[in-house]
Amino acid sequence: MLCRKIILLLASIATTGASAIRGQELATADQIPPTRASASAAKNQTAPLRQEHRFWDKKNAWLFAGVGASRALDYSSTLNLRRRGDNEILVTNDLVDNHAAFAVVEAAGTAVSIGASYLFHRSGHHKLERWTSIVHIGLTTSGAVRNYCLPTAHP
Ligand SMILES: [Zn+2]
Repeated sequence: MLCRKIILLLASIATTGASAIRGQELATADQIPPTRASASAAKNQTAPLRQEHRFWDKKNAWLFAGVGASRALDYSSTLNLRRRGDNEILVTNDLVDNHAAFAVVEAAGTAVSIGASYLFHRSGHHKLERWTSIVHIGLTTSGAVRNYCLPTAHP
């Protein structure tokens, strides 16, 4: 029962995030002014001089720590599931059972997420930059909860 509640909570967080991203896209489309040339000229003057925030600011440091923590939770929950005789669905059992290689996969997932955030940051999409980590944490954590909720296979 508790598991189901946690999954519902995470699902609602994920959908809120998705609608926020959609909202942001609509807003930027609306914000494009009719005098496009003058606006982009002004943007070109200010954009290289002023950054919205440093990439490794406090907020991102916490978000990336959260991504790493959710990945660690995924790692331990998947090993837990394997110990109980269940099968991993996203990667092969051989990979999961090679713990060092599986840890590298989890670390790579964290690195790719931070890389995606960095690309959004560089292109000026600071909200998407944050949401990349938030959605990643939500999906990974709900996957880990799901792993722990799976019934133990009795051969
Ligand atoms: Zn940014």
